[in-house]
Amino acid sequence: MFRFRLVLLSVAATVLLQPAVSSARVPEKKAAPKGAPIRAQAATAAEAKAFVDAAEAKLMELAVEASRAGWVQSTYITDDTEILAAKANERAINAGVEYAKQAVRFDNLKLPPDVARKLLLLKNGLVLAAPSNPKESEEVTRIAASMEGEYGKGKYCPQKDKCLDLQDITRIMAESRDAAQLLDVWRGWHSIAIPMRPEYQRFVELSNKGARELGFADTGAMWRSKYDMPPDDFAREVDRLWEQLKPLYVSLHAYVRWKLREKYGDAVPATGPIPAHLLGNMWAQDWSNVFDLVKPPDVDPGYDLTKILEAKKTDAKGMVRYGEAFFTSLGFAPLPPTFWERSLFVKPRDREVVCHASAWDVDNENDLRIKMCIEPTAEDFSTIHHELGHNFYQRAYNTKPGLFRDSANDGFHEAVGDTIALSITPEYLVKIGLLDKAPDPSKDIALLLRRALDKLAFLPFGLVVDQWRWKVFSGEVTPASYNRAWWDLRTKYQGVAPAIERTEKDFDPGAKYHVAGNTPYTRYFLAAILQFQFHRALSQAAGCTGPLHRCSIYGNKEAGKKLDAMLQLGVSRPWQDAIEAISGKREMDATAMRDYFAPLQKWLDEQNKGKPTGW
Ligand SMILES: [Zn+2]
Repeated sequence: MFRFRLVLLSVAATVLLQPAVSSARVPEKKAAPKGAPIRAQAATAAEAKAFVDAAEAKLMELAVEASRAGWVQSTYITDDTEILAAKANERAINAGVEYAKQAVRFDNLKLPPDVARKLLLLKNGLVLAAPSNPKESEEVTRIAASMEGEYGKGKYCPQKDKCLDLQDITRIMAESRDAAQLLDVWRGWHSIAIPMRPEYQRFVELSNKGARELGFADTGAMWRSKYDMPPDDFAREVDRLWEQLKPLYVSLHAYVRWKLREKYGDAVPATGPIPAHLLGNMWAQDWSNVFDLVKPPDVDPGYDLTKILEAKKTDAKGMVRYGEAFFTSLGFAPLPPTFWERSLFVKPRDREVVCHASAWDVDNENDLRIKMCIEPTAEDFSTIHHELGHNFYQRAYNTKPGLFRDSANDGFHEAVGDTIALSITPEYLVKIGLLDKAPDPSKDIALLLRRALDKLAFLPFGLVVDQWRWKVFSGEVTPASYNRAWWDLRTKYQGVAPAIERTEKDFDPGAKYHVAGNTPYTRYFLAAILQFQFHRALSQAAGCTGPLHRCSIYGNKEAGKKLDAMLQLGVSRPWQDAIEAISGKREMDATAMRDYFAPLQKWLDEQNKGKPTGW
């Protein structure tokens, strides 16, 4: 996770698996000067440039303010810091909405490329466009806050004075192997979304109205418009990527279904979709919690990084030094001294902080920081490499104008962090002296399976959330079939189904944070695909010829140069240019993920012999 620098352009930081993310909602903007864009007098190119310059300067200023307030709030949680941070955020977001609406004035003008791109970014950056009618604007903002609040406060109370919040339920979903208990908490959590149904219906009407005022067909088209291609082409592009990976997913699905059937008996059908509550996660989006049920017999990887770090008495700063050394080995300059002075590495003993790891660039220049409660574990070791990926990205594009200081598209930032984490191989650990000898490749299947349960199992869910919303916003799915359409899509893509009857009284999409909190989701699908494409391209640049999952770019300046070339672009050019800088290709390509998991695919096919596949 990272903090977007321009809070207004992009939505404030969102995380994939963590429901407790910052709000994606756009507060009301005050009486706008229009029902239709102002076009009384024809605007000129000079006015457009002056407008963009002013917007850029103001938005930068507000973003830095919001960032400072946000930092203090996350590292010193009190009622006051929360209010101050919320106010600063609101100011920044309101300004973003206002500039987006005004930018429409310069449509159809012939402009220098930089000015045109900045106008585009101003217009495409919104997640929610409130209608210009003040009453409607107030209403849509209120609904957005209400749904997010209902989600945040959501509790399931199996007994009168015993209530479970999402954190409790998440733990049960991960750890319990009692099918009845799993179904009970699954049903309980989904019930929290029922009151959101009428609100969501109204929310769709109003947010569509605002999107149309900005010239988009609907809110879904507005979301898809930020990918440097026509919105409908982007939808097809996403489908194409999924088709590249579907066979691999089907193999994993068949294998896991069989293993779950061995555990749970007829509760899991031999053919057909897997019951959605048995995969270790509320949304069946991450299956790694059922690894112990599906693992092959010999899973000892031969070493335990957590134990090694403990034995070496590695402290928090020492952990971060390993991460920094990864980047300097690629040719990047060391982190600035302020990074070490201002970051939060350890959980303070005397106050509340947000421990969820995040990376910041507080002044949008060089004030890089991470905020993390570091423990000497293998997981934190990997997370540090991921977070620093954000920091080095932020610094690489800091010479670009303010509006261009962001990732090439919203999938890129997370993908870069994860790309670096993919290079944490046993060979890398040997090179930095944490391991004497890499284990032999016979242990790889277990490691690949564990990774696939996380990254591959996620893909269809990463697709479904917005497939559903795009159809809802466009009107293809109407309120009369909200819930059925949700489960049709989940069954079609994920091959999962509810184990109990669902009706149109239910509103199961609202039991996912990003629907209740109105946060676009396709970025996570893209990030999952892109990280393997980046990893393959960089591994090739580094001359790695072995299996992809054993390649690490550590120490390779050629790979570093390619990575840097992409990072430096920020969002100044269409993302196709950025992907070309790193991979030589102008398209997203999911075959890299297939290559990465090729040994697992082979193994799965052997396991699946004679067993049913598909659903
Ligand atoms: Zn991240």
